[in-house]
Amino acid sequence: MIYLYLVTNADKSAVRGGPAFELMFNIHNYLKKKGIRQSFELTFFAPMEEPGARMGKNALSMLDKMLKKYNIKKHLGKKIKEFSSEAIVFEDDSKLIADLILFIPAANGHSVLTNSDLPLSEAGFIKIDDSGLVSGFTNVFAIGDIAALEGPEWTAKQGHIAELMGRNAAFNISEIEKGSSKRKGYQEHLNILCVMDTGDGAAFVFRNDKKAFMLPMPIFGHWLKQGWGKYAKMTKVGKFPRIPGM
Ligand SMILES: Cc1cc2nc3c(=O)[nH]c(=O)nc-3n(C[C@H](O)[C@H](O)[C@H](O)COP(=O)(O)OP(=O)(O)OC[C@H]3O[C@@H](n4cnc5c(N)ncnc54)[C@H](O)[C@@H]3O)c2cc1C
Repeated sequence: MIYLYLVTNADKSAVRGGPAFELMFNIHNYLKKKGIRQSFELTFFAPMEEPGARMGKNALSMLDKMLKKYNIKKHLGKKIKEFSSEAIVFEDDSKLIADLILFIPAANGHSVLTNSDLPLSEAGFIKIDDSGLVSGFTNVFAIGDIAALEGPEWTAKQGHIAELMGRNAAFNISEIEKGSSKRKGYQEHLNILCVMDTGDGAAFVFRNDKKAFMLPMPIFGHWLKQGWGKYAKMTKVGKFPRIPGM
């Protein structure tokens, strides 16, 4: 069984590294719980040399340790040429034979945008300023994954950033209507914040301009992430009040 994640586009902020590790570790623990892990060979592969580097050096070495601990092989640094029904074929025509290939592509901008008159980045995301205002427009805002985020090289499109951009856009539109020049921006709030569930625990990952760390959260981390998923869903549909700031 093989799992991979892939960078194909010109915008690294759209790469989903954390979820790739999360899924891999969960598959390992699922098979282990069923007592059949030894019947499967798991390989994590990606075209870059250091997948997960965006989360910081500390996270990178910890992920490496986790892959070793879980006996998950690595196949890194080789571009992918194609998938066949039974293998991944690399640029040098070498193959990794697999019964199952799981793959998270790095997304490009939405196809709807291609034929629009909106200004797009090379990867097809909408160009905006810090306030979310679309470049060259006075009354069009773009928020969340569809926008081309500008920031440090580790910038990642994340759910909480999308929500912050949404709140900012509402505030900024209201200030425009009032004739005020007050604006709120997303760039000073950029960070990576992720609880990576492993199925038997989790790892808390954080990165901003000042610090980058990964904190193991054995056992309770798994339940924390499960709880967070339920809380997020309930608050979204108005069945549970949103705790301020969360
Ligand atoms: C595998 C994976 C794991 C992730 N894990 C995390 C995580 O742990 N933490 C985190 O913070 N972020 C995570 N993210 C990122 C997070 O999901 C996104 O940043 C966030 O959902 C962006 O919100 P959005 O509203 O901009 O876009 P979306 O949530 O993608 O919402 C866009 C919506 O538009 C709809 N839509 C698309 N096309 C059309 C159309 N033509 N007409 C009408 N509707 C349409 C879609 O169905 C969708 O509902 C993850 C992403 C992936 C892919």
